[in-house]
Amino acid sequence: RAKQAGKGTYILYGQNMQQHFDERVIIEKHLREAIDNNELSLQYQPKVTLRTGELWGFEALIRWNSPVLGFVSPLSFIGIAEDCRLIIPIGEWVLRKACLFLAGLHRQGLGPYHISVNISVIQLLLDDFTDTVLRILRETELNPRYLELEITESIIMESFEEISIKLEYLKQRGIGIALDDFGTGYSSLSYLKQLPITTLKIDKSFIDGLPGEGSSMPLAGSIVAIGHDMGLNVTAEGVETEEQLDFLRRVNCDKVQGYFISRPIAEGQVLAWTRQYARQMINVEKC
Ligand code: C2E
Ligand code: MG
Ligand code: MG
Ligand code: MG
Repeated sequence: RAKQAGKGTYILYGQNMQQHFDERVIIEKHLREAIDNNELSLQYQPKVTLRTGELWGFEALIRWNSPVLGFVSPLSFIGIAEDCRLIIPIGEWVLRKACLFLAGLHRQGLGPYHISVNISVIQLLLDDFTDTVLRILRETELNPRYLELEITESIIMESFEEISIKLEYLKQRGIGIALDDFGTGYSSLSYLKQLPITTLKIDKSFIDGLPGEGSSMPLAGSIVAIGHDMGLNVTAEGVETEEQLDFLRRVNCDKVQGYFISRPIAEGQVLAWTRQYARQMINVEKC
């Protein structure tokens, strides 16, 4: 007979926990080979300047198509990649690939557009993080002013001092720093004021309910106002409807990104999308 263990035991060693663990081991095992086997790619989601409608640039989003596991969402594997530190080579691969792609667009006379790249705290805490970023910019011949790093709020509080110094250094060189998923973490406004950032990125959860009912100002509107008070740009993510876009325009949000404008686009389709978007804009001007 099995010992009568405490109630918590089943939660700890129960089937779900075991399955969860197995899944992590399997993902880690296959992820190890993903870069060398060319299983990783990037998609690019357009970001638009709301005031003018102009294309500002793109956010690079990683995709993993594993021959064994199929498409695996970054929401499932980025955390695991962080735990086993595979995020270091993967993150460097993402940054180089994104900068190369953008520099290529510029050489073709497009833009110049910007590129936003998601950066993990594991990368930020590396001693040579700033060197790596500047080296990749040199190697890909991309002007630092066209690169924006997206950092999530929750991660920054862990090593505030160290991370602030590095971000400040990169900001001084013209690189944009966006605080991603803003509003979902726990950072206080006084911390926010001390952070060397250039942009607040309002989390999708504050966009979903827009424009909302009643007379009270939706939180997204207040976040835009706070961001502007602090001299920051404000971007809204996850914009899916025209009503949301109209609301964001009314409160002077600077940039928008979301399915309403475009889903993330495969590399091979970006050029065609961009040309099509430019034509649309010109038509709008003529109206
Ligand atoms: P994120 O940086 O907040 O990226 C936004 C996510 O929302 C993306 O999901 C994007 O495809 C999705 N999205 C954009 N617009 C809409 C919309 O209108 N509606 C809905 N429902 N979703 C929208 P994705 O690509 O699955 O990425 C999820 C997260 O994984 C990212 O959230 C980011 O935290 C992380 N991630 C993705 N690529 C990288 C990477 O290269 N490095 C690191 N460290 N993290 C990454
Ligand atoms: Mg992001
Ligand atoms: Mg985000
Ligand atoms: Mg998000």
